[in-house]
Amino acid sequence: MRDCIVIGSGVAGLRAAIELNTLNLDIAIYTKDSAKESNTNYAQGGIAVCLSKDDNFDLHIKDTLVAGAGLCNKKSVEILVKEGADRVKELINWGCKFDKNENGELNFTREAAHSVNRVLHANGDATGAEIERALLSKAHTENIEINEHYRLLDLIVENKKIVGAKFHNLQNNTLEYIYAKSVILATGGYAAIYKHTTNPSITTGDGIASAFLAGCTVEDMEFVQFHPTALNYKKAPSFLLSESMRGEGAILINDKGERFMEKYSKHLELAPRDIVARSIFSEMQNNLKDHVYLDISHLDSDFVRKRFPTIYNECLKYGLDITKEPIPVSPAAHYTMGGIKTDVNCKTNINGLFACGECACNGVHGANRLASNSMLE
Ligand SMILES: Cc1cc2nc3c(=O)[nH]c(=O)nc-3n(C[C@H](O)[C@H](O)[C@H](O)COP(=O)(O)OP(=O)(O)OC[C@H]3O[C@@H](n4cnc5c(N)ncnc54)[C@H](O)[C@@H]3O)c2cc1C
Repeated sequence: MRDCIVIGSGVAGLRAAIELNTLNLDIAIYTKDSAKESNTNYAQGGIAVCLSKDDNFDLHIKDTLVAGAGLCNKKSVEILVKEGADRVKELINWGCKFDKNENGELNFTREAAHSVNRVLHANGDATGAEIERALLSKAHTENIEINEHYRLLDLIVENKKIVGAKFHNLQNNTLEYIYAKSVILATGGYAAIYKHTTNPSITTGDGIASAFLAGCTVEDMEFVQFHPTALNYKKAPSFLLSESMRGEGAILINDKGERFMEKYSKHLELAPRDIVARSIFSEMQNNLKDHVYLDISHLDSDFVRKRFPTIYNECLKYGLDITKEPIPVSPAAHYTMGGIKTDVNCKTNINGLFACGECACNGVHGANRLASNSMLE
């Protein structure tokens, strides 16, 4: 029997395994696809962190509580903000390269509902891929065992204590029972169960379902965040057009060419995600259209190409040039606040079973996650 298995290899699972490995335990990661396939790997805009000289813990805590619509667990939020700063410094020490300004200082950008610039990004709009790369590289350096293409089917519980998990080994199509004294679920959320989603197809809430069937309490499952601006063009997938585009000055217009956010919020395009998504939905209904437009073409085209290389190239694949024209967008399921109920130490109500990251619900995001707080979590 192993000491601990971690299920999932996104930011939450990798970070948990790296920590466990310092305790000289017999541990391993099991993950459904290739090691890097995760929501983490697709995250674009950045990671929110209180490290800039214009920022302070109280401000970041306040912004998180306001975005969460009064339903956050304040203790979780305080831990997120205060400990998050050290965790991001640690990531940098492990080789994660965030973008810097011309003076060689970390380059913080603004996203909706943040009162200061506090979002670090990497390679423009490919932050998640850089975080995943850095954590995987650290895990490999530490010789952490990673078992790819193992799909969790069920958790094994005896006398109210976790004893292991049942997997489908997708490579040789067999069932495997892995026994462990404790299990950490880091299997991500469930936004890919929606027709219009920004998530990769692996994000189907498997860990949450297994935990529920094993007797865990799940919480806030109705709180699903719809990202306001996913590509909505012919047969193209609902590719995310990051909020940081609006942070840099992109505007929303309806099919009559009118900028409409002033009708809905004094914060305009930088209102919290739920408000922007509902405003877009109202415009779509009022104008009998299935999309509005996101327009960044008024900014310098070299800047836009450099700042948003992933988005620029993805849109070009469908003949859309973000430096020249408004892009058709509509809301899509993006992030799930609900999940396996845990305390602030990731403990569930089953002995030996822990959950972290998007599959868990410790109340840190309340009813609505503040942009870029999830990779920090
Ligand atoms: C397009 C996009 C852009 C985003 N942009 C940002 C951003 O800019 N900033 C931000 O903070 N957040 C962003 N997010 C959200 C953020 O990426 C996620 O909330 C976060 O990465 C979740 O990390 P995680 O480790 O909990 O889960 P994930 O990164 O989703 O990892 C889950 C892991 O569990 C594995 N798994 C799933 N089911 C099983 C199973 N049955 N058996 C075994 N393994 C399983 C998966 O293969 C994967 O390895 C974005 C999300 C998307 C989709």
